[in-house]
Amino acid sequence: MKGAHVVIRTRTDTTLFIEVTCPMCQDVTDVAASWPGYEAWMRGAYIQDALPQTSPEQREALLTGYCSGCQQEIFGTEDCG
Ligand SMILES: [Zn+2]
Repeated sequence: MKGAHVVIRTRTDTTLFIEVTCPMCQDVTDVAASWPGYEAWMRGAYIQDALPQTSPEQREALLTGYCSGCQQEIFGTEDCG
């Protein structure tokens, strides 16, 4: 289910602050997103279109829950450390 690992921590009129807890290491990734973008994503827009201000790691965390460190371990990016 989309967003099941995502907790909305704080919200203002325009922005929400999301906490994503990594299922592997329990690290928390903080993501700030705009309401219109978040709602567009929830309605099915591509996340990179809905939330272009977020980093690729933050978008992956929203999609999968994994923190950037675990993303590198799982997806095996070769430019890490
Ligand atoms: Zn992790």
